[in-house]
Amino acid sequence: MRLKFWGVRGSTPTPQVENLRYGGNTSCVEVRFGDSIYIFDCGTGFRVLGHQLESEFGERPFSAHVFVSHFHWDHIQGIPFFRPLYDNPNSQFSFHSSSRVRSLKQVMEEQMASPYFPVNLDQMRAEQNFYDIDAGRIEVGDGVKLQTAWLNHPQGCMGFRLETKDGVIVYATDNEPGDAGFDKAVRKLAEGADVLIYDAQYLPEEYEARRRGWGHSHWREAVNVVMESGAKELILFHHDPDHSDPVIDKVVKEARNHYPKVRAAAEGMEIRL
Ligand SMILES: [Zn+2]
Ligand SMILES: [Zn+2]
Repeated sequence: MRLKFWGVRGSTPTPQVENLRYGGNTSCVEVRFGDSIYIFDCGTGFRVLGHQLESEFGERPFSAHVFVSHFHWDHIQGIPFFRPLYDNPNSQFSFHSSSRVRSLKQVMEEQMASPYFPVNLDQMRAEQNFYDIDAGRIEVGDGVKLQTAWLNHPQGCMGFRLETKDGVIVYATDNEPGDAGFDKAVRKLAEGADVLIYDAQYLPEEYEARRRGWGHSHWREAVNVVMESGAKELILFHHDPDHSDPVIDKVVKEARNHYPKVRAAAEGMEIRL
């Protein structure tokens, strides 16, 4: 199993020179298991992944499962720019998201509606299937199980746990600590995972001073979650747009004083299990 980060930034893309070592594209993580492709979130990193898939498959159709945690811009903004959706009518994309707030299909139609985008959803010729998911467990492919849980975020957000024989990856971003029920649920979702990708948008002091109620976590809470869930490796994710590379370097250093297996997600970073 191989995991690759295509977008690691939270809230909005930040293509600024002081951010480029970790990267300025918003949330998108790709997992390959055998011939299957699993994609978590469609921020602007999704566009770059699309180019990679085009060059890899060329004229050949392919299929992928796409899990969308919620519909804030930084998790959907890459969809209209994902070229494989336009290319090949024989390619198949299975989108999984909760329709508790809205269906993903409606979100896609709305984000491409006039006058916000020059082409409509019906220009996307690839086959698209939309699956409504709620908290629980589903089979998504050969030997692959997906567990989902609700996270603590304005308008809701889902966390995902992908289980295969090679290992377990948990993608849990956009989650604020402090609600007993959600705190427990995210620890359960992360239990014993090989890799935990977790929201570490703020510094703890920023969170305390002026970011309570904004729906995000900080590195100190991320360390709590990895230690209390028994997950093995922590990947700090959804970096704040105002955190430059040196700020993130410092966060990683401090976090390692509490837990040794911590890294910050960076565009292009790969993990093999
Ligand atoms: Zn976000
Ligand atoms: Zn959000």
